[in-house]
Amino acid sequence: MNSPIYDAAVVGGGLAGCSAAITLAQQGRRVVLFESKHYPHHKVCGEFLSPECARYLHDLGLTPALRALCPPVVHSVAIIAPDGTRWETHLRGVGFSLSRYRLDQALAQQSRCLGVDLHEGATVTRIDGDLNHGFELEARSASGSGSFSAAAVIVASGKRSSLDRALNRSFLRTPQPYTGLKAHFRGAPLPGRVDLYTFPGGYCGLGEVENGLTNVCLLVRTEVFQRVGGVEGLIAWMQAQNPGLKRWFNTAEPVSERWLSISQVPFLPKPAVEGDILIAGDAAGLIAPLTGDGMSMALRGGQMAARYVQRWQADELNAGDLPRLYAAEWKRTFDRRLWLGRRLQACLFQPRLLSLGLRILNRLPAVGQMLVDQTREVAQPGQLAADQLVE
Ligand SMILES: Cc1cc2nc3c(=O)[nH]c(=O)nc-3n(C[C@H](O)[C@H](O)[C@H](O)COP(=O)(O)OP(=O)(O)OC[C@H]3O[C@@H](n4cnc5c(N)ncnc54)[C@H](O)[C@@H]3O)c2cc1C
Repeated sequence: MNSPIYDAAVVGGGLAGCSAAITLAQQGRRVVLFESKHYPHHKVCGEFLSPECARYLHDLGLTPALRALCPPVVHSVAIIAPDGTRWETHLRGVGFSLSRYRLDQALAQQSRCLGVDLHEGATVTRIDGDLNHGFELEARSASGSGSFSAAAVIVASGKRSSLDRALNRSFLRTPQPYTGLKAHFRGAPLPGRVDLYTFPGGYCGLGEVENGLTNVCLLVRTEVFQRVGGVEGLIAWMQAQNPGLKRWFNTAEPVSERWLSISQVPFLPKPAVEGDILIAGDAAGLIAPLTGDGMSMALRGGQMAARYVQRWQADELNAGDLPRLYAAEWKRTFDRRLWLGRRLQACLFQPRLLSLGLRILNRLPAVGQMLVDQTREVAQPGQLAADQLVE
């Protein structure tokens, strides 16, 4: 590897990292982007893109690629408790579903088209420096190690990464009691809907993605996962807990060779800067998946970090203000929804409390809508919607 000097280095080629890299490249910046895996690859994710995502993806120039992939649109989300109590909310606007296998690949392709120097299979192991003196990054790949220099660094390395250890991030000191699983199936249709089936200590989402596949993705407390005997035990056990889920699985056929899993899923607050490094996406804070807002936050957070870097490089901000102002905007924009997501998720894990809550929401639809709105940025009328993106 050689070592050119870049305006910005971005670590992590998921939604937040690609969003940051593309935004900077659109402004003519020289950007290097590191992704430790090769594209395309699967990820543990519910793969539901909320209505807000359409605008961010359009800003990144993704509309033609998305249209070509024909993702199914989503109009509503239903939560179904183990006793069959059900609450369904219609989205403000239209969402859609697309596998991360295709979405991340499309974003990576777009960054390359815009001249981003994308290194696949390259893991950043060390970052030194600051905004006054520049940064030095060490990246390891199959062909060896190399060092790269950049004026600014955005880290978007996801929920938990070996880089967090290298940066000595404080959240690693608190063990996290959640495990996530995901696989693709062929099963009974769920037209225009995402279904969230709950069970004690967890929930399982079903949603159609491209090519007639259904994504099955679940989050469970790790103690439950271990008690019921790991993946196979859990899949059988959660069906026994929620008969509606069992009915769907009875007619479904697995397409993925195996369940993908992640452990220690961290929902606790994290700082949005480390020294002079800007952090974006899940690396700055993961929202409870039931809100379906994580990908929108990652796309927006990546854009936000890129715009702060641009303002600094255009001399609108000094090096001292950049991390401070970015962290403050991140907090203002996302903190409240992260907090609410954690509280709502705690209710979902308790079936009796949940059934009562869902019955109340069925009687008071305005309260349900208010809770949904508080977990996201509500799309404004006239904004680009997913049905325009995918028609
Ligand atoms: C169970 C579950 C279900 C979910 N369902 C939904 C949903 O339906 N809708 C929704 O909107 N959100 C959902 N989310 C949240 C969503 O998946 C995340 O918010 C989103 O993926 C965040 O994107 P990101 O770019 O921050 O991280 P990621 O997509 O995880 O990308 C980070 C990237 O960084 C790379 N990387 C890590 N370390 C390094 C390194 N040192 N060097 C180079 N590369 C590195 C990784 O390989 C990875 O590709 C769910 C989350 C969970 C846990």
